[in-house]
Amino acid sequence: MSQLQPLRGMVDLLPEQTHRWQAVEAVARALFQRSGVEEIRTPLLELTDLFARGIGQATDVVGKEMYSFLDRGDRSCTLRPEGTASVVRAAIQHGLLSQGAQKLWYSGPMFRYERPQAGRQRQFHQIGVEFLGVTSARSDVEVIALAWDFLGELGVSGLELQINSLGTLEDRQRYRHQLVNWLGARVDQLDADSQQRLSTNPMRILDSKNLKTQDLLSDAPTLQEALSEESSERFEAVQLLLNKLSIPFQLNPRLVRGLDYYCHTAFEITSDQLGAQSTVCGGGRYDGLVQQLGGPPTPAVGWALGMERLMLVLGAAALADADGIAARLTSYIAPDLYLVNRGKQAETFALRLARELRAAGVSVELDTSGAAFVKQFKRADRSGAAWAAVIGEEEVESGQMSLKPLLSQAKEHRVALNDLAAVLVILQAAI
Ligand code: ATP
Ligand code: MG
Repeated sequence: MSQLQPLRGMVDLLPEQTHRWQAVEAVARALFQRSGVEEIRTPLLELTDLFARGIGQATDVVGKEMYSFLDRGDRSCTLRPEGTASVVRAAIQHGLLSQGAQKLWYSGPMFRYERPQAGRQRQFHQIGVEFLGVTSARSDVEVIALAWDFLGELGVSGLELQINSLGTLEDRQRYRHQLVNWLGARVDQLDADSQQRLSTNPMRILDSKNLKTQDLLSDAPTLQEALSEESSERFEAVQLLLNKLSIPFQLNPRLVRGLDYYCHTAFEITSDQLGAQSTVCGGGRYDGLVQQLGGPPTPAVGWALGMERLMLVLGAAALADADGIAARLTSYIAPDLYLVNRGKQAETFALRLARELRAAGVSVELDTSGAAFVKQFKRADRSGAAWAAVIGEEEVESGQMSLKPLLSQAKEHRVALNDLAAVLVILQAAI
């Protein structure tokens, strides 16, 4: 029979990777907890209409990238391509918005039918933050600081925060008009993709990866010039606060973000380690979305960070600094004790002992192979455990087992088989 393959762009995470992911997720979870940001979990599958309305028909995500299908009840469903629309739907549905500002985070898989390449998959994972019901420039900066501090705590460097202001809906409409006029007069100089976007989503042309288009755009009118005085002042307040927090940033007038619902502050955090897929984290303010999805007018700001890209950046940081935080987070965590055991009674005893030690907080790898002691010892060495406990028929008879140090020159101990406390004292002295 032919071997089964995963679908293109769908990636397995093997144990070597999952322990790194868990370490990184633990850092995020702890930071959110310290910051009063609470977790929300929403379904992976939603009505297609949620994303069509929440993200916008003209975006690449909705237009080209969604995994949509009819379920058995003929409803059009979509595997979520991002988290914001679902979080907002849930907040509206459960009346969270009448309970004051909501500071929420989520994590999990997202699905987009894109061309897979380094840092771009069809199932990928995001950690995201959404603050709903907050309006001040200060809340934009608190949200940005959360992302910045998360990455800082992981010990990655070479990051750049880029910010822009998209202004209000009116500012954008005014600008859109100017841009379409300007580009319309130069339509023959645009690439095919951009020509199409001119009528569907002209602001996204600013985001074009085509170098010729980028060159042309350097003379185009900028959104900054089209901002109302109020919007400009708001943007200045954001910059002032970032300065106060010593968070360095670059102004990027071309940063428009892919999704339709953004306004005012938009930002991205990029890494110099990622080549073409350089954006690790992107976000901004989306004051119109809640209402667009049928909720009360509610200002909001948030971000989403790509876990796969973050892991690539973290891997590079770990390589560059073997003693650094990133290296520690990505290092293999060895068990405290490797339990070598052989013989009928010994094996039963070892199974029980492993369970008791684990309940007492010791991480134990139990050898269940029944192989010769020499083989088990080889595996014990490879496991990286600091200690091996040895239980054979002889030990069961004498009621004593030995604890052998595997990494240090500490002396070997003999302890009574049933003396869990003595085992713990020896191990804990070493841990
Ligand atoms: P890009 O321009 O790279 O396609 P995007 O603007 O579509 O990014 P967002 O929708 O803002 O991305 O998602 C936030 C983050 O999620 C991105 O910055 C990236 O780190 C990650 N991400 C988005 N799409 C993918 C994907 N297909 N594979 C892996 N990570 C992704
Ligand atoms: Mg994309």
